[in-house]
Amino acid sequence: MEVSGVRRMVILKCQLMSSLNLCPGDAKCLVAFMRKEGEFERYRSVPAAIVGIIDCGGCDGTRAVPSLGLLKMHLASLKEDADVVHVGTCITKFCPRKDDIVKAVRERAGVEVVEGTHKYVVERIFGK
Ligand code: SF4
Repeated sequence: MEVSGVRRMVILKCQLMSSLNLCPGDAKCLVAFMRKEGEFERYRSVPAAIVGIIDCGGCDGTRAVPSLGLLKMHLASLKEDADVVHVGTCITKFCPRKDDIVKAVRERAGVEVVEGTHKYVVERIFGK
Protein backbone atom coordinates (compact mmCIF):
# COMPACT_ATOMS: atom_id res chain seq x y z
CA MET A 1 0.00 0.00 0.00
CA GLU A 2 1.40 3.38 -0.98
CA VAL A 3 1.39 6.09 1.66
CA SER A 4 1.07 9.61 0.32
CA GLY A 5 2.15 12.93 1.79
CA VAL A 6 5.07 11.54 3.74
CA ARG A 7 8.61 12.90 3.51
CA ARG A 8 10.74 9.85 2.83
CA MET A 9 14.30 10.09 3.98
CA VAL A 10 17.42 8.09 3.47
CA ILE A 11 20.27 8.20 5.95
CA LEU A 12 23.82 7.76 4.72
CA LYS A 13 26.15 6.57 7.46
CA CYS A 14 29.84 5.83 7.97
CA GLN A 15 30.66 2.22 7.13
CA LEU A 16 33.70 2.21 9.38
CA MET A 17 31.79 3.27 12.47
CA SER A 18 28.97 0.94 11.62
CA SER A 19 31.15 -2.12 11.03
CA LEU A 20 33.02 -1.54 14.27
CA ASN A 21 29.68 -1.26 16.06
CA LEU A 22 30.57 2.21 17.29
CA CYS A 23 26.97 3.27 16.79
CA PRO A 24 25.03 0.17 17.89
CA GLY A 25 21.68 -0.14 16.17
CA ASP A 26 22.00 3.29 14.56
CA ALA A 27 20.29 4.32 17.76
CA LYS A 28 21.34 7.96 17.80
CA CYS A 29 19.79 8.66 14.41
CA LEU A 30 16.68 6.65 15.17
CA VAL A 31 16.12 8.24 18.57
CA ALA A 32 16.74 11.71 17.16
CA PHE A 33 14.18 10.98 14.45
CA MET A 34 11.65 9.71 17.00
CA ARG A 35 12.14 12.86 19.07
CA LYS A 36 12.38 15.11 16.01
CA GLU A 37 15.64 16.52 17.30
CA GLY A 38 18.79 17.65 15.54
CA GLU A 39 18.40 17.87 11.77
CA PHE A 40 15.11 15.97 12.09
CA GLU A 41 13.54 18.94 13.82
CA ARG A 42 12.37 20.07 10.38
CA TYR A 43 9.89 17.16 10.35
CA ARG A 44 8.06 18.23 13.52
CA SER A 45 4.98 19.27 11.61
CA VAL A 46 5.44 17.06 8.56
CA PRO A 47 4.74 13.34 8.28
CA ALA A 48 8.11 11.72 7.73
CA ALA A 49 9.60 8.26 7.52
CA ILE A 50 13.02 6.70 7.19
CA VAL A 51 12.93 4.45 4.11
CA GLY A 52 16.56 3.38 4.14
CA ILE A 53 19.84 3.51 5.99
CA ILE A 54 22.87 2.80 3.85
CA ASP A 55 26.57 3.18 4.44
CA CYS A 56 29.28 4.86 2.39
CA GLY A 57 30.85 1.51 1.46
CA GLY A 58 34.02 2.13 3.45
CA CYS A 59 36.96 4.46 3.02
CA ASP A 60 37.23 6.39 0.86
CA GLY A 61 33.51 6.77 0.53
CA THR A 62 33.31 6.38 -3.23
CA ARG A 63 30.62 3.71 -2.99
CA ALA A 64 28.16 6.10 -1.38
CA VAL A 65 26.64 7.21 -4.68
CA PRO A 66 26.40 3.72 -6.23
CA SER A 67 24.82 2.51 -2.99
CA LEU A 68 22.20 5.24 -3.27
CA GLY A 69 21.54 4.01 -6.82
CA LEU A 70 21.04 0.45 -5.59
CA LEU A 71 18.73 1.70 -2.86
CA LYS A 72 16.74 3.59 -5.48
CA MET A 73 16.22 0.34 -7.40
CA HIS A 74 15.24 -1.49 -4.24
CA LEU A 75 12.75 1.21 -3.25
CA ALA A 76 11.35 1.24 -6.76
CA SER A 77 10.58 -2.47 -6.45
CA LEU A 78 8.51 -1.51 -3.42
CA LYS A 79 6.90 1.37 -5.34
CA GLU A 80 8.70 3.84 -3.09
CA ASP A 81 11.20 6.63 -3.56
CA ALA A 82 13.12 9.11 -1.41
CA ASP A 83 12.64 12.87 -1.02
CA VAL A 84 15.69 13.73 1.01
CA VAL A 85 19.09 12.28 1.89
CA HIS A 86 20.56 12.97 5.30
CA VAL A 87 24.30 12.58 5.48
CA GLY A 88 24.81 11.19 8.95
CA THR A 89 26.48 13.06 11.75
CA CYS A 90 29.05 10.23 11.86
CA ILE A 91 30.17 11.44 8.44
CA THR A 92 29.71 15.19 8.78
CA LYS A 93 31.55 15.28 12.10
CA PHE A 94 34.25 12.67 11.71
CA CYS A 95 34.93 11.64 8.12
CA PRO A 96 38.05 13.13 6.52
CA ARG A 97 36.33 12.69 3.12
CA LYS A 98 33.15 14.39 4.25
CA ASP A 99 33.33 17.25 1.75
CA ASP A 100 33.89 14.89 -1.18
CA ILE A 101 31.06 12.60 -0.10
CA VAL A 102 28.60 15.45 0.40
CA LYS A 103 29.58 16.99 -2.94
CA ALA A 104 29.16 13.69 -4.80
CA VAL A 105 25.81 13.02 -3.17
CA ARG A 106 24.58 16.54 -3.92
CA GLU A 107 25.58 16.16 -7.56
CA ARG A 108 23.81 12.85 -8.04
CA ALA A 109 21.03 12.39 -5.52
CA GLY A 110 18.46 14.48 -7.38
CA VAL A 111 16.73 15.33 -4.12
CA GLU A 112 17.44 17.57 -1.15
CA VAL A 113 20.60 16.68 0.75
CA VAL A 114 20.86 17.61 4.42
CA GLU A 115 24.17 17.56 6.27
CA GLY A 116 23.68 15.85 9.59
CA THR A 117 21.20 13.81 11.56
CA HIS A 118 21.45 13.77 15.37
CA LYS A 119 23.31 16.13 17.66
CA TYR A 120 24.23 13.60 20.34
CA VAL A 121 27.96 13.99 19.80
CA VAL A 122 30.19 13.93 22.86
CA GLU A 123 32.24 17.10 22.44
CA ARG A 124 34.65 16.43 25.32
CA ILE A 125 35.90 13.03 26.38
CA PHE A 126 37.41 14.02 29.72
CA GLY A 127 36.84 16.75 32.24
CA LYS A 128 33.68 18.61 32.98
S1 SF4 B 1 34.96 7.27 3.98
FE1 SF4 B 1 34.40 8.43 5.81
S2 SF4 B 1 32.27 7.85 6.17
FE2 SF4 B 1 33.14 6.29 4.83
S3 SF4 B 1 33.96 4.66 6.17
FE3 SF4 B 1 35.65 6.08 5.77
S4 SF4 B 1 35.57 7.52 7.52
FE4 SF4 B 1 33.56 6.49 7.41
